[in-house]
Amino acid sequence: MAETQGKVITCRAAVAWGPKEPLVIQEICVDPPQEMEVRVKILYTSICHTDLGTWTGVNEAERAFPRILGHEAVGVVESVGEGVKDVKEGDYVIPAFNGECGECRVCKKEVSNLCERYKVDPMKRLMVNDGGTRFSTTTNKDGGLSQSQRIYHFLNTSTFTEYTVLDSACVVKIDPNAPLKQMSLLSCGVSTGVGAAWNTAKVKEGTTTAVFGLGSVGLAVAEGARARGASRIIGVDANASKFEKGKVMGVTDFINPKDLTKPVHERIRELTRGGVDYSFECTGNVDVLREAFLSTHAGWGSTVLVGIYATPRTLPLHPMELFDGRKITGSVFGGFKPKSQLPSFAQQCMKGVVKLEPFITNELPFEKINDAFQLLRDGKSLRCLLQIAKFLKK
Ligand code: NAD
Ligand code: ZN
Ligand code: ZN
Repeated sequence: MAETQGKVITCRAAVAWGPKEPLVIQEICVDPPQEMEVRVKILYTSICHTDLGTWTGVNEAERAFPRILGHEAVGVVESVGEGVKDVKEGDYVIPAFNGECGECRVCKKEVSNLCERYKVDPMKRLMVNDGGTRFSTTTNKDGGLSQSQRIYHFLNTSTFTEYTVLDSACVVKIDPNAPLKQMSLLSCGVSTGVGAAWNTAKVKEGTTTAVFGLGSVGLAVAEGARARGASRIIGVDANASKFEKGKVMGVTDFINPKDLTKPVHERIRELTRGGVDYSFECTGNVDVLREAFLSTHAGWGSTVLVGIYATPRTLPLHPMELFDGRKITGSVFGGFKPKSQLPSFAQQCMKGVVKLEPFITNELPFEKINDAFQLLRDGKSLRCLLQIAKFLKK
């Protein structure tokens, strides 16, 4: 039994104190897990664009500081609260920002992964058990002593810390022999992209696909489409350097909108005799979404929204445009039900059905987390992996 079980743990975390303010690595207190909660020692974490979006505070309603961001990680269970049966101390786990209680009406149906109790909620900042936080400060952001202040949770997970507390519905046990660094990617980016291709669009062999935005999420869509035998995968990005990476994930053609004198969808329709079978919007830009929608073939084309749209603007479509027979739908966490489906997806990745290594473009120590944010902001990384804890496998 862990020596720390039932006790408050004092450890280091990267705390966000305000929009666009550099994260502060400081000492914090992490309370023990309550009923149906799990305390996890984080081994590796990586940064997704959704962390960046929340940190910049672009959507004012979602702002909550001080806060511990981060939702892509892999860790080991330190202790569990009362009632937790499916994981125990020492298990290797990944956090799931979109949880699965297993008992609600949605969890019992196959069609949706949006659990009624633990689906992703960008507004949520407190634990459901008692409406409190499990994190608190020991020092102020300048390192001086201050009265303890609560630190908010983020996206059911909060992984930029040595220890975090999650609802057990948001903890997925993985094979202890899995390559741990790569498992961090399954917490969000790769599962989201591959799942959008496999579960939401259901990409079929010999079909054509366009992916808008070649970050980790978009390239995971490409990798998923490649694995399903798509014959042509057109990548669209304003950053030309993304094409080199994209080739490894099966991107066959590249379009930089800056090089065109016509809308991207016209170019795609020219290249594909009227449009692609599937398009995926992975930039979070509403104007790009319109291009993605119009780039599919009339009659059967299908567009999947994956990006997060901070803007108050609504869908950029005239209702009559839907009479052309193009479909449009959204995808959260790639449609995966985390607890019931991620372990087998992880196995498929370990067998090489989906290649994970190319997504880790940088590795840095935890202290350099602000540099890792900058790499993503500058379009210079796909995923930068941060090592948080040193550990030895038993
Ligand atoms: P990223 O920053 O690594 O990649 C975004 C890419 O889009 C970059 O390569 C950038 O150059 C490109 N881009 C941006 N604006 C563009 C434009 N106007 N035209 C062409 N290219 C453009 O981000 P990521 O981590 O891959 O995440 C992608 C999106 O997916 C984000 O909006 C993120 O919040 C969202 N997301 C959604 C889910 C979900 O469950 N639906 C999960 C994870 C991430
Ligand atoms: Zn994410
Ligand atoms: Zn549920």
